[in-house]
Amino acid sequence: MPIDNTEFLTRQKHLLQAMQPNSICLLPASNLVTRSRDTEYPFRQDSYFQYLCGFPEPEAWLVLSNHQEYSHGLCILFCLDKDPTMEIWQGRRYGPKQSKRQFAVDLAFAVDEIDERLVDLIDGHQQLYFAQGHDHGADDLVLSVLQALRDAPKQSMQAPSSLIDVRVILDEMRLIKSATEIEMMRQAAAIATQAHIRAMQFVETGKNEYHLEAEIHHEFAMQGAKYPAYSTIVGAGDNGCILHYTENNQGLKAGDLVLIDAGCEWQGYASDITRTFPVSGQFSTEQKQLYQLVLDAQLAAFEVIKPNNTIKQASDVVIAVITQGLLDLNILKGELADNIKQQTYREFYMHGLSHWLGLDVHDVGNYKIDGQDRPLVPGMVLTIEPGIYIAPDADVDNKWCGIGIRIEDNLLITQSGHENLTLAAPKTISDIEALMTKKSD
Ligand code: MG
Ligand code: MG
Repeated sequence: MPIDNTEFLTRQKHLLQAMQPNSICLLPASNLVTRSRDTEYPFRQDSYFQYLCGFPEPEAWLVLSNHQEYSHGLCILFCLDKDPTMEIWQGRRYGPKQSKRQFAVDLAFAVDEIDERLVDLIDGHQQLYFAQGHDHGADDLVLSVLQALRDAPKQSMQAPSSLIDVRVILDEMRLIKSATEIEMMRQAAAIATQAHIRAMQFVETGKNEYHLEAEIHHEFAMQGAKYPAYSTIVGAGDNGCILHYTENNQGLKAGDLVLIDAGCEWQGYASDITRTFPVSGQFSTEQKQLYQLVLDAQLAAFEVIKPNNTIKQASDVVIAVITQGLLDLNILKGELADNIKQQTYREFYMHGLSHWLGLDVHDVGNYKIDGQDRPLVPGMVLTIEPGIYIAPDADVDNKWCGIGIRIEDNLLITQSGHENLTLAAPKTISDIEALMTKKSD
């Protein structure tokens, strides 16, 4: 069941309570973006807007006020008006009347009226909450309305004296997922897990990276997850060493690994899984050694992913395991402590371990509080994604060159530790090889 109006109302109430008294908040929806003449990129609602009311159309605004004259706060939607001709060409619109009935808003007006109505709506509030710089068109509208208020004859109108970044409140709210949000994320994780399994079963020497991308997207679409949460990465061989490789157009060769980083969006919520597996179904000795090292590092990180610990602690554990492993394999030389201090591992493991996950794949929320790494708390969802990438021209024994491996799972922090939402996507060497053997039977 998708997020319902009761939950949207709860979120609005939290925001209204967190704002200072006599404040108003303005939030714009996303707009359509031209892809090429007369065609647009698929519409994706702004995550903040989605979070507060779930209204699915572009060219809309949400206005929330906790002014003393409204005992329970006020939420107004501005949206495109009904227009039979436009709707024949561009699709159905809710229009203000139906929106007011169907969505968690007190009032709804046509967006054409927004300039005029905003002047009166903002008048008398002391603070304006807004995400300045998030959308330049929205910035222009808000600044012009504020100016109109300031220019009004004195004593008749009052502009807010301060402009406050609403993201400070909303990001903290979005960081802790509700029970319903967790259900959405579980489903996003389950669909993406199936997609990775499908790719492992489909891979074959002679096929192309784009065939695997198509299999992944097929699974997403067949399960109703219309869009990936980000551009799918299918990197075979050396391409696995390019962190954000998205060309996905090279052939799959026997003996190569293929790295797939793909997640879908379900009801707006993202999953983000990476699996790396051999094109031929069997890891080579070198691939096995490096793969096991990445997996050991990930499992060591899992040990510390629990309430009150920090991502930094998990990251330090991963750095220690990877650096020691690279020393054992003679890819790095010298003492463990020196290598960690000089960050020599960064040639082979150059990205962070984790990011928040939610409505955005790199979700909102501060990683530090007052300069300190923030402790994990139940309800947070994050990725754990160590990797090792030995560039084709790296100054190491040639047998390691061109191997790129990342393993990424999505973890929900629980009271007692964590739950791995993507556990069902095979990742041990034996599970991957067994699955791939089975497909050729
Ligand atoms: Mg990823
Ligand atoms: Mg990620």
